[in-house]
Amino acid sequence: MRSEPQASAYRPDARIDTIAEWIGDPVPAAAFPKHELRFRNDRWAGAVGLGDLTDEAWTAHFGRFEPLADNLPRPLALRYHGHQFRSYNPDIGDGRGFLFAQMRDGDGRLLDLGTKGSGRTPYSRDGDGRLTLKGAVREILATEMLEALGVNTSKTFSVIETGESLWRGDEPSPTRSAVLVRLSHGHIRIGSFQRLLAHDEKDQMAALVAYCLDTYPGGEPPADAPGRDEPAVILLHQVVERLADLAASWMAAGFVHGVLNTDNMNISGESFDYGPWRWLPKWDPRFTAAYFDYGGLYAFGRQPEALLWNCGQLAVALRLLADTEPLVAALDRFGALYQDAMARRFTWRLGVVSRGAEADTALIQAAERSMTESGEAPERFFFTHRAGRAAGDDGFGALLREYEKATEADGAFWQQDEPPGILIDEVERIWSAIDEHDDWSALHTKVSEIRELGRNLGEPPRPQDKW
Ligand code: AMP
Ligand code: MG
Repeated sequence: MRSEPQASAYRPDARIDTIAEWIGDPVPAAAFPKHELRFRNDRWAGAVGLGDLTDEAWTAHFGRFEPLADNLPRPLALRYHGHQFRSYNPDIGDGRGFLFAQMRDGDGRLLDLGTKGSGRTPYSRDGDGRLTLKGAVREILATEMLEALGVNTSKTFSVIETGESLWRGDEPSPTRSAVLVRLSHGHIRIGSFQRLLAHDEKDQMAALVAYCLDTYPGGEPPADAPGRDEPAVILLHQVVERLADLAASWMAAGFVHGVLNTDNMNISGESFDYGPWRWLPKWDPRFTAAYFDYGGLYAFGRQPEALLWNCGQLAVALRLLADTEPLVAALDRFGALYQDAMARRFTWRLGVVSRGAEADTALIQAAERSMTESGEAPERFFFTHRAGRAAGDDGFGALLREYEKATEADGAFWQQDEPPGILIDEVERIWSAIDEHDDWSALHTKVSEIRELGRNLGEPPRPQDKW
């Protein structure tokens, strides 16, 4: 069984202050006509010392954005650029969000509270700065399911419905509005570095590297890595390690993020910013989540490649501080790290003991063939074969029989007919109940089922460092 997040005292630590002058712009939050608390994540609120807030105090902080004690005096809309579908866009930044607060958890790790849908900023362009309620509900579902499946993800901390009518070209409109607060280990993106390169800000680049190394302590580069004492090189190694693990964790989860632009790539290695995501209905590397991804650039099977490409853009930015050779050496590690992570995460989800990356890769390939031939949803496949059970007569079954089980699958959870999943039809059903009858029970039931899945899957394999 997986342990729950540990309760901790509130320990504010607005470290962003040290770089606030050039990493963001102070902004006001929007004044909303209504505040209806729809979701509070008490599991994680306790971990940052905010679990005891009354609903009124919660709404004051996460709906009206009254500052938390000893924290940021004003929200900060972060500055960044980014490659969007591989075209460079310097006209972005936090256009509907901001960094609201920072605090330490019980292990001393720094966490941020950031927003989505909290109003216009200098980076909003033509946008309204708002988030649809449906978008917020979708982000709750994505983050809860990813967390259950062991993915290093931001958490949805709070959702408050805000009583506005929004118009969206790609949704039935008008539609309801919400403001979401997310909890994650930072909001510094690859695009934050790209912006500093575009402005030739060498000193700020060095300061941002130092901030990241200090805030997210990670491992050291391998002993034979060139330039292994240089901060920029160390950071790139850490980001390559984290994003290789993240890519593998999405693949083992059967998850398609949909928009892997460099402004959506957190240096902490957490996945975040969930828009048109989907879970695979069946194993298909070409499956694409975003209807506007015409070329399938961010299709399911191309996610590792997309993350490596994004690491490449971080390397390009870090050229301002370091030579090419040590940066390329860091990028060159991605493939092997990805293969290791895939072995670790795939066997974890199957509930069997890894037999090393090479043997596990054969198992993974056989599993992919089996799922492709049967058309079975990944959720059902992993559930059916949990702890090595139901090894059939095909190639996958033969390989699976060679594996030792890492856990048992004999509790009631593993005997149910339908494994918990979150395919698009179910997302739409949950949303329809809210939209048509203001009935939130299906969402809450689903979140409980997903958390039960997480507990039963147990402690996920940790990436190289603890972020
Ligand atoms: P995203 O695709 O959500 O990662 O956003 C890309 C860029 O567009 C970021 O700069 C966002 O802040 C901005 N953006 C997206 N939606 C809106 C909106 N409704 N209002 C203002 N800015 C937005
Ligand atoms: Mg984004």
